[in-house]
Amino acid sequence: MYDCIIIGKGPAGISCAIYLKRFNKNVLVIGKDYGSLGRAKVIENYYGFNSISGLDLAKKGEEQAKNLGIEVITDEVLEIMGLTVMTKNNSYEAKSIFLATGKTNKANISGIDDSLVSYCATCDGFFFRGKKIALIGYGDFMMHEYDVLKNFTKDITIFSNSEENIKDLINGKIKKVFSKDEKKCILVNDTEYLFDGIFVASSNDSMAIAKHLGLITDSNNKFEVDNFKTNIDGIFAGGDAIDGLDQVSTSVSDGAKAAIEINKYLKEE
Ligand SMILES: Cc1cc2nc3c(=O)[nH]c(=O)nc-3n(C[C@H](O)[C@H](O)[C@H](O)COP(=O)(O)OP(=O)(O)OC[C@H]3O[C@@H](n4cnc5c(N)ncnc54)[C@H](O)[C@@H]3O)c2cc1C
Repeated sequence: MYDCIIIGKGPAGISCAIYLKRFNKNVLVIGKDYGSLGRAKVIENYYGFNSISGLDLAKKGEEQAKNLGIEVITDEVLEIMGLTVMTKNNSYEAKSIFLATGKTNKANISGIDDSLVSYCATCDGFFFRGKKIALIGYGDFMMHEYDVLKNFTKDITIFSNSEENIKDLINGKIKKVFSKDEKKCILVNDTEYLFDGIFVASSNDSMAIAKHLGLITDSNNKFEVDNFKTNIDGIFAGGDAIDGLDQVSTSVSDGAKAAIEINKYLKEE
């Protein structure tokens, strides 16, 4: 049992881990990649560095945490239930969780909005029992959602550009998603595909995590927090995953301040 599981190995997650380690807490950091920072070509406005590539800065942060004896693993979190965190091959339990998952990458498809699609198979799959549904996404998270949806219907068509080993798979760029005759329609090239429901499983979509847990999010899909506490006891969030400046400096600051709150919480428990 960890004192805290931190999801995200970007500036917010690593900073939180470093401060919790100072409080002698037993921490696990799980990150699937280097997030936004890994994609930033060059950072020139962060304290102490004239110029550094985002990827190098991210790697330095991870290395620093590991040198301090913090356990950092590369894996994707597929689901959180209570305070149990599940990846493809493992599940981990903690007394608290810090969500440092960065910005939500909403699927960049014309027409997609929350009233038209669902982001959580566990939450909404039940409403589509025996119905015809589409699943848009890729990777392990999409396969996880696919497995959940199979409990409710056999009629699932996957829209993905990746090479999944699935019978009903449609490759090709989705031009648009829209409502048509009480159905939901996906337009690929010039072909319209009609469904009762559409699920989106894009990796790094904190919407799915939020919906599974019942976390409140704002209109930008950021977790709503009060002093880094989400609406669920024991679950905290910070960095780009919450409303703020979306910068390395503010994410590092969030991580440190959240660690103080998490430490207080652990003491009270
Ligand atoms: C192109 C670009 C240029 C930028 N330039 C600057 C700049 O010049 N200066 C500046 O200050 N900021 C810049 N930024 C912003 C900066 O990178 C972010 O503000 C900062 O990285 C946010 O830190 P974070 O820890 O909150 O999130 P991130 O760095 O995005 O890290 C999120 C972490 O969460 C992990 N994660 C998410 N979902 C899961 C999951 N399901 N399972 C496991 N892990 C998960 C990711 O793998 C990653 O490790 C730039 C961003 C971009 C994209």
